[in-house]
Amino acid sequence: MKPDLFAALQPAIDGEWMVRVLREMILIRSENPFDEPPREGFREQEMADYLAGRLSDLGAAVEAREVRPGRPNVFGLLKGKQGRTTLMLAGHMDTARTDGYADAYAVRIENGRLHGRGSCDMKAALAAYLGVLKALRDAGVRLEGNLIVCGIVDEEYQMLGSKAIGRSGRMADQGIIGEPTRLRVCPANKGRVSTKIITRGRAAHSSVPETGVNAIEKMAKVIQAFGDYNAELLARPGHPLCGQGRFTPGVIRGGVQVNMVPDHCELEVDRRTLPGESQESVYAELHARIRRAAAGDPDFAYEITAPTWLIAPNDISPEEPVVAALRKGHEAIFGHDPGVEAFVAGSDAPYMGFPTVICGPGSIRQAHTTCEFVELEDVLGAARLYLYAALELLGG
Ligand SMILES: [Zn+2]
Repeated sequence: MKPDLFAALQPAIDGEWMVRVLREMILIRSENPFDEPPREGFREQEMADYLAGRLSDLGAAVEAREVRPGRPNVFGLLKGKQGRTTLMLAGHMDTARTDGYADAYAVRIENGRLHGRGSCDMKAALAAYLGVLKALRDAGVRLEGNLIVCGIVDEEYQMLGSKAIGRSGRMADQGIIGEPTRLRVCPANKGRVSTKIITRGRAAHSSVPETGVNAIEKMAKVIQAFGDYNAELLARPGHPLCGQGRFTPGVIRGGVQVNMVPDHCELEVDRRTLPGESQESVYAELHARIRRAAAGDPDFAYEITAPTWLIAPNDISPEEPVVAALRKGHEAIFGHDPGVEAFVAGSDAPYMGFPTVICGPGSIRQAHTTCEFVELEDVLGAARLYLYAALELLGG
């Protein structure tokens, strides 16, 4: 980066404009439609149209690529002077649902916090990305490398948007996703494998239970099989940032009525995975434990269904230039090196097809709650940090 370019550009970041843009984006309700078709209140398309309009106004070449009908990813490219390196600033346009969140769209600012669904998760980051483009345009600076701002659909459910990006070839050299980390730099996060374990029995009248096979009693063996699983996971050597994997049985269902021997019982389990673990390795562990517990029981019948939830872990090298650039930016802007840590939730990062770090405004503690907000100072801080990283990685 040319000396003093960041200092010269920083005043061009327009905080008031970013707040206005953030308000407008929150008011476009873009809750994830899950398995339903997009409809009123579930408008990723309008968010995409809005983002495309803003990007185009700021001089970016815009492209929308439909992932599902009415659900496009959006890309805005600022082509660099030589274009050898490409940085992507990416973020999902969908939000969590708002069941039980009465004032989800009563956007307001209180005590330096902007409230509303999607504020910290993660329209604040999208506003900060636009703030970077506006600062570059207003200052008349053209970068050497390419800068892409990308809006992604379906992060809150199946991550169809980022999976489509990953499938379309390597779109960038480095990426930042502004999920809420209070601007901490997170090159790794755990993944998740959720599934159902089903035990099967034989129904019978409860006056003669010996003529049936009780699926609930069989499930008791399954639950016992996992009694020391977390202890074992905790005893394994962990990941330097993510620590250890975890296992939780979360939901159990079985039986029809009290005077019937149940022939079916199911247990939903959630396994948080480390970088290096896969669906296959997790299933192998589940099967091994269940088989051991059921050894010698000829009536024991079970199955493990296909995953009900599957999120890959992310693990990029802390030596990646994008990680170094954000840490250096922290030093320059906030006066300290934040180091690196793990992001606590899943994200689009592992699917993007290039090394992508998580670093964004607001806190994950407010995401998905019925009191979602983002600190306005974080939005400004994020824009400064992303601008710094863009100048550092792409050259001005
Ligand atoms: Zn998010």
